[in-house]
Amino acid sequence: MKLNRRFNFVLLLLFLSFCLQACTAAPEEDNQLRQFQRTFLGSFDTVTQVVGYERNEDAFNEVCDEIEKRLMHFHQLYTIYDDNDESNNLKKLNEGAAEKPMPVDPLVMDLLKEGKTFTLKTNGSFNCCLGSVLSLWHDARERAVKNPAEASLPSKEELAEASSHCNPEDLILDEKSHTVFFKDPELKLDLGGLAKGYVVERLARELEAEGVNHYLISAGGNVRSIGDGLPDRPWRIGIQNPDPEKQGLLDTVALHKGAVVTSGTYERFFICDGKRYHHIIDPVTLFPSDRYQSVSVQCANSGTADALSTALFNMSIEDGEQLAEQFEAAVLWLDNAGELHMNARWKEIRLPADAPHR
Ligand code: ADP
Ligand code: MG
Repeated sequence: MKLNRRFNFVLLLLFLSFCLQACTAAPEEDNQLRQFQRTFLGSFDTVTQVVGYERNEDAFNEVCDEIEKRLMHFHQLYTIYDDNDESNNLKKLNEGAAEKPMPVDPLVMDLLKEGKTFTLKTNGSFNCCLGSVLSLWHDARERAVKNPAEASLPSKEELAEASSHCNPEDLILDEKSHTVFFKDPELKLDLGGLAKGYVVERLARELEAEGVNHYLISAGGNVRSIGDGLPDRPWRIGIQNPDPEKQGLLDTVALHKGAVVTSGTYERFFICDGKRYHHIIDPVTLFPSDRYQSVSVQCANSGTADALSTALFNMSIEDGEQLAEQFEAAVLWLDNAGELHMNARWKEIRLPADAPHR
């Protein structure tokens, strides 16, 4: 796990450092504003980067401290790996919600509602109840990273058995009593494909309501603008090339307001018998999805973009285009043959790679 994370970290930094150079959306109406940046590790097991325009560094630091604090609070509620003594987080639900309905914080209820809705809308291509299957792959990855020579895959039998416990209808969300119950004793939640994007969206809206403007946040590939932005000065977002051998970016897009999220097979993986096994699991084959190297989604809501980027990994481009249109999302696919595909909305937001900084 550690090895993978370090790799992930390096790639992310490469991407983010480009993003930084590129984000020159200096608001013209106030030439007193200067650009500041901060990068930190911790929440959601990933790198978060904040770029913002403020009059002075203290003002920027104040916003960043808030962001760091709030991200950690969300992390503690939404993790399936860490304990939280204060309230019923997703780990506690996975341990106890099959025995009796468990009371939850409204923030947990809301994430689960979004997750279940998205699961139903994507017909399970994104499935927040896939935890029993995903945990088999997660454990295999942990074992392989600790001891590469002993790497092994989950067996087809155990995967098939686990997949019979992933029905979203067995996740009972009772909004009146604020409780969560699993009708299937083996059901397990995994919101890893939605939580970061959902949190970034929530946080961005909170900060906007508090008057924060001209900021960009990126949490592990989930990028969201904060504030209205200026029509003639979009943020420039570079999409990382997953192949470290290849120079340059896959693409560059203009973001006025909203989110850009990328899911990639290069983020978390392990090697077994010389073959790479990544972390997005196709609910039909129960194996890592084998269509794409990365999928990027641009749309208004960062939670939608996150879940959509995971769902699209498990669909053909034709089906994916139809799904994306329901959310007015722009999409860029890099397939396993190294070919780029994009829908019409993506073509509209592309910038020439050598466009001058504004
Ligand atoms: P990352 O979180 O690494 O940026 P994604 O947003 O694509 O990448 O989410 C991948 C995570 O989503 C996995 O680590 C796992 O927790 C979860 N996941 C994997 N496959 C699926 C799936 N088919 N449906 C829902 N969640 C999934
Ligand atoms: Mg995702």
